[in-house]
Amino acid sequence: MSAHPSASTGFRCDESFARELDLADPLARRRDAFHLPLRGDGSPAIYFCGNSLGLQPRTVRDAIDQELEDWARLAVDAHFDGRTPWYSYHEVLRESGARLVGALPGEVVHMNGLTVNLHLMMVSFYRPTPQRFKILMEDASFPSDTYAVRTQLRFHGLDPDSALLIARPREGEHTLRTEDVEALLDREGERIALVLLGGVNYFSGQVFDMERIARAARARGCVVGFDLAHAAGNVPLRLHDWGVDFAAWCTYKYLNCGPGSVAGCFVHERHHRDASLPRLGGWWGNDPSTRFRMHLNREFVPVAAADAWQLSNPPILSMAALKASLAIFDEVGMTALREKSGKLTGYLQYLIDRAGWQPHASGESARAEVQGSPTDARYEVITPREERARGCQLSILVHDRPKELLHKLHAEGVVCDFREPNVIRVAPVPLYNTYHEVWRFAQVLARHA
Ligand SMILES: *Cc1c(COP(=O)(O)O)cnc(C)c1O
Repeated sequence: MSAHPSASTGFRCDESFARELDLADPLARRRDAFHLPLRGDGSPAIYFCGNSLGLQPRTVRDAIDQELEDWARLAVDAHFDGRTPWYSYHEVLRESGARLVGALPGEVVHMNGLTVNLHLMMVSFYRPTPQRFKILMEDASFPSDTYAVRTQLRFHGLDPDSALLIARPREGEHTLRTEDVEALLDREGERIALVLLGGVNYFSGQVFDMERIARAARARGCVVGFDLAHAAGNVPLRLHDWGVDFAAWCTYKYLNCGPGSVAGCFVHERHHRDASLPRLGGWWGNDPSTRFRMHLNREFVPVAAADAWQLSNPPILSMAALKASLAIFDEVGMTALREKSGKLTGYLQYLIDRAGWQPHASGESARAEVQGSPTDARYEVITPREERARGCQLSILVHDRPKELLHKLHAEGVVCDFREPNVIRVAPVPLYNTYHEVWRFAQVLARHA
């Protein structure tokens, strides 16, 4: 019966339960801080695509306007006299950026785009020798990461087909087992120069055990880096304590900074004073005290921080959006976000499991606790079920007419995306999505019989 909560989760299938969850949600009012895209009839769409492009915080416009005004009013003098001086703008974001990924303030810098940062990190941290030259990635890694790694390998005169190792799920499974990554590191570790995995796999939504993988990789002498595109702002991270060598992430997904916004980069402090690291230098990475003496000091003097990897002065308009967005993350905190996220996505999983359930016109439900076995279920969530192994996103494998379901979802005002051949990715985001939206989404699934 729908009125009876599930023993294991405490959830119920009825609509009023979704309303109760929203009423009790301490983050509910945060939704008002975002621009929600509207449907043709003027009502807000159910936006479950924050894993791809986060919604615009309402504060972003003022933050960018401030820089436009300072530019108009002060022009070059805004570098030092602006309300947030452009010269040191990246320093303003240092602490918030570090808090977000569990780093020390000097370990995080915002610059470039994500793929550019991966390349810059590999310039310093992928240093192949004849004995140790392989790069370990996951299957399936994001196309841009694969292109970046394959072209880096070629840049070093190596053949990507033999130098690239791929960690795969077992036959018949959709996610990677940490013990299999460890076993691979046991077997191949001496030949692996770099382990470069996603923190959260973009396709399956699996959160990797970054701590264990970093430990295993470093124990075998491998450098370890993470692409946090789907992890930053989604799951709690402790990059410093985990001993990760480097990480890079974009800020337009869970971080809501707008299309193509400036990316983030982490370099562990143990590398900050290593003069032997190969690197590509630029004036913004030079020690600020000698930055403007370049006609006198021709030698690049890296500042002892992640800032040393900066090449150019930062894109202030994009940094302004980042400043506004990180202020929200600072206010709410990853702990509270994660708490709601676990519940919101857990509720989604619960309702998907029961998508055979059909409400009667009276609002009563006939088959509230349908427990289909995985083989006869119409939907299979390929994202891990354990909360620690997933973030906001669930990847739903649709056995029957997936494209038709996608069109139905779109027609009902759900924004989500599709990955060939049959996976629908949905990501309810704790900052702006509601339990009732999750419930409405599940109604569309249930009707797709
Ligand atoms: C989104 C995403 C990218 C995008 O790269 P850009 O350089 O920001 O265009 C790269 N890698 C992963 C894993 C992603 O999810």
